[in-house]
Amino acid sequence: MVLLRFAPSPTGALHLGGLRTALLNHLFSKQLKGKWILRIEDTDNTRFVPGSVENIQKGLEWAGLNYDYGPGIGGPHGPYFQSQRLDLYREFSNKLLETRHAYRCFCSPAQLTAIKDRLSKIGSSATYNRTCLHLTEEEVARRIRSGQKYTIRLYDSSVPERHTPSDLIFGEIREARLSLPTDPILLKSDSFPTYHLASVVDDSQMGITHVFRGEEWLPSLPLHLDLYACFSLSPPQFAHLPLLLNPDGSKMSKRMGDVQVNDYIKKGWEPEAVINWLALTGWGNRSEGENTKLERGKSVPDVFTLEELTLKFQLSKLTNRRGILDPGILRHLNKEHIRLKIRQPSNLRRLVQKVRLIISTSFPDCNFVTEDYLAQVITTLEDRITNILDLPDLAPYFFIDPSWISEAAQKMKGTVPKDIYDRSITQSLDDLNRLQDQDWNHDGLLDAIQKTRNTLQCTSKELMTPLRHALTAMKDGPSVIKILELLGKERTLSRLRQCVT
Ligand code: GLU
Repeated sequence: MVLLRFAPSPTGALHLGGLRTALLNHLFSKQLKGKWILRIEDTDNTRFVPGSVENIQKGLEWAGLNYDYGPGIGGPHGPYFQSQRLDLYREFSNKLLETRHAYRCFCSPAQLTAIKDRLSKIGSSATYNRTCLHLTEEEVARRIRSGQKYTIRLYDSSVPERHTPSDLIFGEIREARLSLPTDPILLKSDSFPTYHLASVVDDSQMGITHVFRGEEWLPSLPLHLDLYACFSLSPPQFAHLPLLLNPDGSKMSKRMGDVQVNDYIKKGWEPEAVINWLALTGWGNRSEGENTKLERGKSVPDVFTLEELTLKFQLSKLTNRRGILDPGILRHLNKEHIRLKIRQPSNLRRLVQKVRLIISTSFPDCNFVTEDYLAQVITTLEDRITNILDLPDLAPYFFIDPSWISEAAQKMKGTVPKDIYDRSITQSLDDLNRLQDQDWNHDGLLDAIQKTRNTLQCTSKELMTPLRHALTAMKDGPSVIKILELLGKERTLSRLRQCVT
């Protein structure tokens, strides 16, 4: 069985890049009927930000990415916080000391800086001169006894036979080894492991079969493979996920737009759309023949739920090209996911709950709204809603009387001669008033409007524009019949009366 892990450090809120890593862990493991772990890599006290773990868990839950093992759930490989596994890292670093794949280094930070400077002055790319490698066992024992602090370094030259590292997405990595420091530190002087040691120990001890993580860790791959070799353990397979970029090709940053999952939650995006968007970024999964255009030549992205993505996911389709996160595509997918939800009663109910909150905040005095009414409003607007948060601006008239005095409303009114406007409203008021409650439905309203038109002998526009103005004060919207039907008799007549001059 495949077992993956998403291993964020609690150094702040969950970012979109992290969510994408978790998503791909989820897709790959679920497709192969495997499982994934949430592991919190909290070994760097200096970077710990309180609340991050909760934020990460909340973000994953919002996105529907439920880990199989981890904080709050437990599992056979716990604890799932690295800070609770320090004995294990100590044990593994001792193993390396015993096999002489590692040595203790007593150099202070100041000494290390001086050494590095000297090395660089003579044009060496080495970062350490291995002073402590040559200490005798007696000297090491003496320094330990005297309480001197030390780190444990990998003895790089002791690493058994090396092969060219290979990555499932990036292929063979020939350049990476150059960027590694000399004899990297594995255990720090405070007894906490560095990321490299903790990650390798945990991945091996937890039985991880595949490591999916961000591209920024690709340079660490050779070191990790060295560690597996020193421990005589076989490594998992690695897949490094290319960086996500802003539409202008720059690295994703707060300055350029939303990077935290929280921002997307707050801005009302549907989690399914965000997941769909992230999954398709950097994934060439276009269905054959579906090359219709979105806007100005962009291809329409496929709309998939998490379950569908799980079925469709193909590791071989992930490319090492950096993925551009196009907000236009998110908007398109969000609209499509709203449309999908409208068709599924349980999802529609959830959408209604979300809208209910938005409406009660935007229109605190609006007290007639029922869940059924909201469901009808959302369904009526399905072709128009891009984001559920837009609803109050998109169609405020479903909740409050329109603002007839706005500039746009007056302009709209001005497109019909005043006498025609007045006659249309007065006659409609008369005819609609006579319509029985039980006939206040699509067919009944259609008949009533037709009757009004016959009486007035006017064009459709001459009647519909005044009516739309009186009911909504907005140029665009669903059909006037649909609006009449939803508003009901009482609210309709009240608005018409207010527009009689
Ligand atoms: N703790 C690392 C991070 O937050 C994850 C590295 C890994 O997945 O191996 O980026």
